[in-house]
Amino acid sequence: MNLKSKHIVIVGGGYVGMYTALRLQRTLRRELKAGTVRITIMDPQSYMTYQPFLPETAAGNISPRHVVIPLRRVLPRVRVLNGRVSKIHHGERSLTFEPVAGEPIEISYDILVMAAGSISRTLPIPGLRDAAIGFKTIAESIALRNRVLGLLDRAESSTDPAVRSRALTFVVVGGGFAGIELLGELEDMAVDAVQYYSTIRREDMRWVLIEASDRILPEVGPEMGEWTAEELRGRGIELKMKTLLNSCEGGLVKTSDGDEFESATIVWTAGVKPSRIVNSGDLPLDERGRLMTTTRLTITGTKDAFAAGDVAGVPDLTKPGEYCAPNAQHAVRQAKVLGDNITASLRGRPLRDYRHRYAGSVAGLGLYQGVANVYGVKLRGFPAWFMHRTYHLSRVPTTNRKVRVLVDWTLSLFFKRETVSLGEIENPREEFRAAATPDKR
Ligand SMILES: Cc1cc2nc3c(=O)[nH]c(=O)nc-3n(C[C@H](O)[C@H](O)[C@H](O)COP(=O)(O)OP(=O)(O)OC[C@H]3O[C@@H](n4cnc5c(N)ncnc54)[C@H](O)[C@@H]3O)c2cc1C
Repeated sequence: MNLKSKHIVIVGGGYVGMYTALRLQRTLRRELKAGTVRITIMDPQSYMTYQPFLPETAAGNISPRHVVIPLRRVLPRVRVLNGRVSKIHHGERSLTFEPVAGEPIEISYDILVMAAGSISRTLPIPGLRDAAIGFKTIAESIALRNRVLGLLDRAESSTDPAVRSRALTFVVVGGGFAGIELLGELEDMAVDAVQYYSTIRREDMRWVLIEASDRILPEVGPEMGEWTAEELRGRGIELKMKTLLNSCEGGLVKTSDGDEFESATIVWTAGVKPSRIVNSGDLPLDERGRLMTTTRLTITGTKDAFAAGDVAGVPDLTKPGEYCAPNAQHAVRQAKVLGDNITASLRGRPLRDYRHRYAGSVAGLGLYQGVANVYGVKLRGFPAWFMHRTYHLSRVPTTNRKVRVLVDWTLSLFFKRETVSLGEIENPREEFRAAATPDKR
């Protein structure tokens, strides 16, 4: 190892982290080969998750392994460390890294990239922490799929109306694209699945969205949001608008419209906030708790520190006074500019501004159903669903993943998707533990 080499440390291996590293791997090829630059990426996971595919993964249209990109495979010139960064001392150019096992390590660096993304923004609602689940990770996506299918099994095997009703009531809180896509895809999967159950009809299931505002899917604009609401209502999904979740202790859901019901599935998708690491260091934060960032993706008032994506408050040059929304569209593009700006700073060249006009959004609502508003072109139903699939297929990183996703989709068109719950993978040792427990005879 060349001790005089410049050490670039990237905190987080998601969209921003992986794309920044990919860019640097290309632009700094010579320096990396000569050992004058080193890059380290740190993340608890060894893969980047293509989050827009999580709803389709939950619905069983895509295999979970095909929506994650192994960092070590795509970043052969970058060191990948698995663990969490727990403190940043940028003044000293050092950070505390907690490996998945073992003692924390102090790591020094020359250039810092903050790419730690966001976590669910929750509220102090009684019962939420214990009864609900978020929807940001591949683990949550797999768990939700197993849960919904497992609950259909539970309802089918019981004659107790209370058990059946609790099992067959599914709640999503938050009507942004994560919540609406999840609701649309999961409901569609469950409707597909109930044909194999003799005592459950589609009408026995209750799907509920709880949304605090008076609109859903703001990402596609008011008109398409309204259309989506009608579409979901037409499928029998209950949309509780201008309604708050008051509590959900033990799965007893109480809402601000006075409703009260039991549910074994409560998914919280009501917004995100920056990753906690922003509070454990000496970097400046804006009024929303994000890293205060300039249009050149440097952290305001610092040297050698960059940030982008959900963790950063990046001014939107196309909408003066506003910030870039936390989405993949910005994250990918910011990562490219960020990577180029690091290269420019190493070579003593001027940095460039990040500028991108939001193109709009596409959302899937279940098989053959979707909604889109891209550059003002509004689509609904099958054309939007087709656009959603082709767009994301073009965006998912690596040819390997594109082919695997395409094969998954093609197979499920011909052979129908799998509707079996593998809930036992969450407790794989249970069977063995029972076998190893001595008989009490
Ligand atoms: C279900 C869902 C659907 C979505 N669909 C769309 C869509 O259709 N279109 C769109 O534009 N956007 C979509 N988004 C949003 C988009 O995925 C995010 O905006 C994007 O991932 C942000 O990229 P990021 O790099 O900032 O964060 P991430 O991609 O989340 O990466 C952050 C990484 O940092 C790591 N990390 C966190 N804390 C630490 C720490 N202390 N130390 C080390 N590592 C850490 C995390 O493990 C993670 O790997 C969706 C999001 C979700 C959840």
